[in-house]
Amino acid sequence: LRGVVALDGPSGTGKSTVARKLAAELGATYLDTGAMYRAVTLGVLRAGAAPDDAAGVERIASAAKLEMGTDPLAPTVFLDGADVAVEIRGPEVTGAVSAVSAVGAVRELLVEQQRGLIREALSAPGGIVVEGRDIGTVVAPDAGLKVFLTASSHARAQRRTAQDTAEGRVSDLERTHADVRRRDALDSGRRTSPLRRADDALELDTTELDVAAVVGRLLELVEN
Ligand code: C5P
Repeated sequence: LRGVVALDGPSGTGKSTVARKLAAELGATYLDTGAMYRAVTLGVLRAGAAPDDAAGVERIASAAKLEMGTDPLAPTVFLDGADVAVEIRGPEVTGAVSAVSAVGAVRELLVEQQRGLIREALSAPGGIVVEGRDIGTVVAPDAGLKVFLTASSHARAQRRTAQDTAEGRVSDLERTHADVRRRDALDSGRRTSPLRRADDALELDTTELDVAAVVGRLLELVEN
């Protein structure tokens, strides 16, 4: 899959911003797989189900209709015909998404949809940049380029706080730092954790790098 760039790593590494800019530079499309787990989580919360009720979550996920717009300049997320881009970034969804994404049936369903979207993208020129946790290991193990982004938990909390503030949400650095560490533990401690660097992925530590520097480095990697 030469046309696929797989960008994995924990939240707050600047992954989404970097992935969108890289896709725009390459004339590629863009897929945010975290937004898909978030949209299913929103469906679960709306239905009043518990995020760790695997059977209930599976039922809701199977019935949910997700539509992902893959333009990197204006990516969209629709759940059952409605635009949910703003709601899926809220604290309720953020607090419940780790539990929902730990349900094996949800992962199977979404990985299948992600592969379909990638196949569709590859039928047009330009390729696709896909960001998530398990793109290089599970979704597209034969991607042409795999990069695993990291950053210190403090740097990741700072970025998340800046992003929340920029998008009009109330944010507190200490609380965010605690949440980043909690989610790290949840995402990496469980048996079904999706977050693992693929053996053949390049690791890029973004703690000291700004967005332009990371995108520049990735463009070099794509071109070589
Ligand atoms: O990337 P983002 O922070 O929006 O992802 C939200 C959550 O979705 C992650 O914390 C993780 O639990 C889950 N996720 C996943 N597999 C992916 C992408 C996201 O399990 N490929």
